[in-house]
Amino acid sequence: MWAVRCLLLCFALAGADNLPKAAVPPESCQRADWRGVAWRGRSREERTCNAYPFKVSSERMTGAFPIDGVDGNHARAVRDCVFSRSPPTPLKGPLRLAAVSQDAVESILDLEVGEAQSEDFLNYASGGRLIPGSVPLAHRYGGHQFGYWAGQLGDGRAHFLGRYTNRLGETWELQLKGSGKTPYSRSGDGRAVVRSSLREFLASEAMHALGVPTSRAASLVVSEEPVLRDRFYDGHVKKERGAVVLRLARSWFRIGSLEILSRAGELDLLRKLLNFVIEEHFPSIPSNDPDKYLVFYTTVVNATARLIARWASVGFAHGVCNTDNFSLLSITIDYGPFGFMESYNPNFVPNTSDDGGRYSAGNQAGAALFNMEKLVEALSPVLTRQQRRRAQTALEAFAGVYRTRFHQLFKAKLGLLGEEEEDGHLIAFLLKMMEDTGSDFTMTFRQLSEASEPQLQRRNFHQDFWALRHLSSHKLFSGWLRTYLLRLGRQEGDSDAGRQHRMKKANPRYVLRNWMAESAIRKAEADDFSEVALLHRTLTSPYLTQDAAEEAGYAARPPRWAQGLKVSCSS
Ligand code: AMP
Ligand code: MG
Repeated sequence: MWAVRCLLLCFALAGADNLPKAAVPPESCQRADWRGVAWRGRSREERTCNAYPFKVSSERMTGAFPIDGVDGNHARAVRDCVFSRSPPTPLKGPLRLAAVSQDAVESILDLEVGEAQSEDFLNYASGGRLIPGSVPLAHRYGGHQFGYWAGQLGDGRAHFLGRYTNRLGETWELQLKGSGKTPYSRSGDGRAVVRSSLREFLASEAMHALGVPTSRAASLVVSEEPVLRDRFYDGHVKKERGAVVLRLARSWFRIGSLEILSRAGELDLLRKLLNFVIEEHFPSIPSNDPDKYLVFYTTVVNATARLIARWASVGFAHGVCNTDNFSLLSITIDYGPFGFMESYNPNFVPNTSDDGGRYSAGNQAGAALFNMEKLVEALSPVLTRQQRRRAQTALEAFAGVYRTRFHQLFKAKLGLLGEEEEDGHLIAFLLKMMEDTGSDFTMTFRQLSEASEPQLQRRNFHQDFWALRHLSSHKLFSGWLRTYLLRLGRQEGDSDAGRQHRMKKANPRYVLRNWMAESAIRKAEADDFSEVALLHRTLTSPYLTQDAAEEAGYAARPPRWAQGLKVSCSS
């Protein structure tokens, strides 16, 4: 019934009456065409013919899993399904496209970025209209939040729109966030506000550009719809504006997706979901392998350990490392009160709601390990006793995998080639000095990359090397520097220019510091999106020095007012 309704809606949306005369495609094309939106590298004819239609499909999901038997977006406990049907609730206009990621739109969705300016795109990207082929769904998942089983959570304000297979043959899942209530909204309003949506948009794209596995953000649409939020949970409820991010991931399944099925004893469904994820995303695991769930688990453990090491290498703290926010594909998802560390401090807690510092930067590997324990608990009913034992061995290897990756990444950050016994010590020593002095994480490494060897030898740190100047106040700095330079000097076939070149590719000059996001948010809340655009542009090439970014102070010492900034869970 729903599918029929949706199809009818799609047909109605794809009607030809608004198209300019010359572009009216043959009738057979009209149904599947994301009208007004062109496809990259394709001729006008191709774009308006369903030889290359932009359409998504939800069939793989609706075909693979039973769907919630109850329709409607009212909050309820859901059982025996993986998804519920849930139409988005359109944002109240006027709408505005506040940001669009050219890279995501062009390289993932095969669209011309200019076409994202169209009215149609605005509607599709905010839940006002359904993309042809879409059967919008809300995913049922659970999760451990701050160490405790929280029961049913689910997509309370996100809608899966469908999957799109691009010209590279990659399949991506499109999702709206902030698109209204679903059966999983509990007491929430299903909305997201401009500030948190902007942070998610910028952070996803920044992390991608940094080379960290992550979900992507295609666009950010803001509205005039009032959304009430108590930003710091201090009783000051304020009217903010609603926004929707169109986010993309190869898969949005999380640890909590499996946990809820396991906890509810829905084991057939648990196997079904596991088989689906393995078949779709772990093609090297044969479907007839009797150990496939164990191999899957081992792969997730290792990939997650490596992901957390990547986070550490760019000073990223997620903020809410609950099992519902940990992807089965080991990508970074669900950006909330995250932070990029400024002064190096393993106790950095980006989320002011995290009183105990459970998810501090330095605890993320521990939090991920806890999540891996929860994952094996969820899998346990479908593992044999022997497989459970082997899974424990995989879990025990987590710390080693993390340490190895961390070591590799930090060696690259220091430009070290080969392996010497003291390398670990060199890295740890530097981090300890940075912690003691509160040196800026990003810029210390960047400036070590930018300083020439003679500059380092002479400790010639002028104004531009503000972070190194700060670090050099440590009483053990000279000793460390001497050891470091000797280590570099032993690298056969290496040159100073080569070292600098390598290090500049391993150490970003720009990350999304809280004050940068906050400054852009303040302007965006007054309808000025110029700083969002500048930040987005800057963070898309974080390893390249850029004039406009320099002028904006993005690589300078953080301003004083940045110190008092707080980010809570409110979003
Ligand atoms: P998060 O902290 O964003 O990962 O969200 C945790 C859970 O709360 C998820 O199930 C979300 O869908 C849900 N949630 C968060 N904010 C809202 C909201 N405004 N309305 C409905 N559900 C929400
Ligand atoms: Mg979440």
